[in-house]
Amino acid sequence: MSDILVQDRPNPEDVIDGHLIDGRIVASTRSFEVIDPATGQPFSTCPDADAEQLDAAVAAARRAFPAWAALGFARRREYLHVLADAITAAADELAPLLTREHGKPIEQARMELSLSGHHIKQLAALGLSDEVLRDDEKGRVELRYHPLGVVGAIAPWNFPVALAMHKVAQALYTGNTLVLKPSPYTPLTTLAIGRLAANLLPAGVLNVVAGGNDLGAWMTAHPGIDKITFTGSVATGKKVMASAAATLKRITLELGGNDATLVLDDADLDAAAAGIARSGFYNCGQICMAIKRVYVADAVHDALLDKLVIAVGKLKVGPGSQPGMDMGPIQNRVQYDKVRAYLTDAVARPGAQVLLGGQVPEGDGYFIQPTLIAGLADDAPLVCEEQFGPVLPVLSFASVDDAVTRANDSRFGLGASVWSRDEARAKAVADRLMAGTVWINRHGLNESDVPFGGMKESGYGREHGVLGIRSYQELQVVSRPAN
Ligand code: NAD
Repeated sequence: MSDILVQDRPNPEDVIDGHLIDGRIVASTRSFEVIDPATGQPFSTCPDADAEQLDAAVAAARRAFPAWAALGFARRREYLHVLADAITAAADELAPLLTREHGKPIEQARMELSLSGHHIKQLAALGLSDEVLRDDEKGRVELRYHPLGVVGAIAPWNFPVALAMHKVAQALYTGNTLVLKPSPYTPLTTLAIGRLAANLLPAGVLNVVAGGNDLGAWMTAHPGIDKITFTGSVATGKKVMASAAATLKRITLELGGNDATLVLDDADLDAAAAGIARSGFYNCGQICMAIKRVYVADAVHDALLDKLVIAVGKLKVGPGSQPGMDMGPIQNRVQYDKVRAYLTDAVARPGAQVLLGGQVPEGDGYFIQPTLIAGLADDAPLVCEEQFGPVLPVLSFASVDDAVTRANDSRFGLGASVWSRDEARAKAVADRLMAGTVWINRHGLNESDVPFGGMKESGYGREHGVLGIRSYQELQVVSRPAN
């Protein structure tokens, strides 16, 4: 094997230089550059795992599985609490690294790290007991839930730590062992957490391997992996599903979205404007369940726009390392080019009105000013595709029926929201929206005890909550005649 053993049981303060495989930090012979999106320049390198290192990680996870599965929920919860506390305690120390590789404001990086600790504990608190389906004159039928074995987790770059740690918590709490692959754009903070975990979890229970897209593809085809939990784009999700079919792996796919929000004529416009500014632009709009299309009732269209321009206009954009920023740069060059292309296309369309922003500052960093554009048709790419950036289209509607039809006319179905002072009216609209989550008078709240996932091409299965975490278990029926 080409691994170079760096050290056994490393000290968390040491430099980041390797994958976590079988409780040890190992380097690779190959590496790739990690770019600071605020400057567009490389600032570090990351080890690039080869296929043999993936094999070693899977073999370690498989060896660790029986003992970990046998520990039981209470003991595994204790381990996860220790990990959660370590991540929360390291939030101040790791936040600058997360900001450097991701671009997000330092306060938001700190928040992502400490919230990850909180979510690990929330997930490890779920009650997952077996169930008795029937116990009568026909016999006794029990539903028993077992761990699956080795889970492969593939994470995206938009919330590199939080989304990875949700998978760690769900897989490990249910008694599986894990091989985790961060995005090649944002691998370093996850590797740093791997170093923390090396001292806290039994060897092989959690393995962290960094690499490019080919490493993800190897995972989905690997015969030693029993389930893939994937968060990323629809296009990659389809490849994951196809590849996993060869070994009939269990899969959970958390994919993209094009969430619509509907502002009805009786909405609290101040609350709606504040909510849209927050959900459309937090993390630079790079959130699967960000508001990506705004539909406003004709009667309140202009009034809402005035308030939205004020709310979004207050957002401060700059390098995430500078305190007090609301938005950093777009995370990577490919995404930056994509968002600029949506913007250029949108402003050139007949009827398009740029209400705010629209500029792309000169310089090497991937910055785009928060932008609001009205007057687009529904078939403009900015409206009907996933922009995943701080450029938001605002459209008007004549009737609620019209708004619902247009909101549903999408291959995506992740989230949606309705703003109205009339709860019954809002709920009736929610019933008609084809989205995995519909929020009323808010948008984008994500809690670990609430199932989350998408309809249509936004996903396959659910994560979080008892319903979601069951996807990390295999159901077995145990049946006997009546005594
Ligand atoms: P992506 O699909 O490009 O990459 C995601 C991960 O998949 C990365 O780790 C990447 O290396 C890996 N990968 C790439 N090709 C692969 C292959 N052939 N097989 C296996 N793995 C492969 O997505 P991204 O650009 O990192 O993330 C942005 C997308 O993620 C957006 O569409 C966003 O909406 C979506 N997302 C969804 C959720 C959700 O919960 N539904 C959450 C966050 C992000």
